[in-house]
Amino acid sequence: MNVTHLECSLTGERYEAGRVHNLSRAGKPLLVRYDTDAAKRALSRDSLASREPGMWKWRELLPNGIEPVSLGELETPVVALARTGGPNLLVKDEGRLPTGSFKARGLAMAVTMAKQFGIERIAMPTNGNAGAALAAYGARAGIETIVICPAETPEINVTETAAYGARVYVADGQIDECGALVGQGAAEGRWFDCSTLKEPYRLEGKKVMGFELAEQLGWELPDAIFYPTGGGTGLIGMWKGFDELEAVGLIGSKRPRMYAVQAEGCAPMVRAFERGEEFAERWENAATVATGIRVPKAVGDFLILRAVRESGGAAIAVSEDAILQAVEDAARDDGFLFCPEGGAVLAAWRKALANGVVGKDERVLLFNCANGNKYPLPDRSKRLDLEAAAPTLLL
Ligand SMILES: *Cc1c(COP(=O)(O)O)cnc(C)c1O
Repeated sequence: MNVTHLECSLTGERYEAGRVHNLSRAGKPLLVRYDTDAAKRALSRDSLASREPGMWKWRELLPNGIEPVSLGELETPVVALARTGGPNLLVKDEGRLPTGSFKARGLAMAVTMAKQFGIERIAMPTNGNAGAALAAYGARAGIETIVICPAETPEINVTETAAYGARVYVADGQIDECGALVGQGAAEGRWFDCSTLKEPYRLEGKKVMGFELAEQLGWELPDAIFYPTGGGTGLIGMWKGFDELEAVGLIGSKRPRMYAVQAEGCAPMVRAFERGEEFAERWENAATVATGIRVPKAVGDFLILRAVRESGGAAIAVSEDAILQAVEDAARDDGFLFCPEGGAVLAAWRKALANGVVGKDERVLLFNCANGNKYPLPDRSKRLDLEAAAPTLLL
């Protein structure tokens, strides 16, 4: 096995590889550690370039026990938003992945590990995309899934999750409250808890975003990364992944400034960042159209804040109007349809540019984490009476 051990992200306490884990004894996320010397011998820029693209080509830096449970996790493209921001504004479009969101990366990895461990039933609280991905990979692996969504979860996520054969419940509370019920069932031995960061392997799948962008940008990380932050798995994962890339000699010590983006209606990380706190208090009455980042309380709060601070970045909150405007503008100007969480990221970049936090000449990478088509859009069509219609009337 290429995994040497796992480690508590708060205390550094070591845990044995090859066993089922959730949180550490301190109640914090566990981080997977690898034999990086062996990985270094196998990985080079050339050897990677010659491999089949996609997340599994990074196998030396992922737990590589069994054949992956896969739906074809392609390498997502980096697209320039030239009209929106000039040639230096890039977006990594995670909406191309199976189930239409980057949750596929984390759940492909987590379900692969669950299968390896012989786990037969998995439960999860979700704002939508994670539940759909869990259900899809669960179906693929022959593992039963139970998904609990807060009331405002987009309908399409709920119906999609059910289509994969999961048991789906829509609950009258926030995601952390749904998570408490999942935790209770796990403690009673009824299922395995696959909540964000309460299971160590989703993070490993997500960190591959950082590997891919490094290679796609010619092994030169961008000046800044803007990430829509709910539980923060991707941000924490990429930050961990950059150190792994450096340890195997693929990149140097340069790091991007990491910007954690939240909505003003649910901004616990922004509040903690501004107050200089290590942990973030729960955000009451959380509400935003960007449901993927509606996470009032994140178990990895200190890891998000640590990455943001170490990198010289910031946590930024944006308004609902700015989110919707950003989605509309990028679609019209560059033909790129962001999901609302991606719209938040573009809005945060605009705010940072206006405040002088980023420069126009800096190379910036935004994350769009789901397919914009999964979300309702305003209907701007007009009725047409074909009897009375003529081409000139359409212009
Ligand atoms: C889950 C999700 C996020 C937040 O991701 P984390 O890594 O958990 O912070 C952002 N955008 C979309 C579309 C999501 O589904």
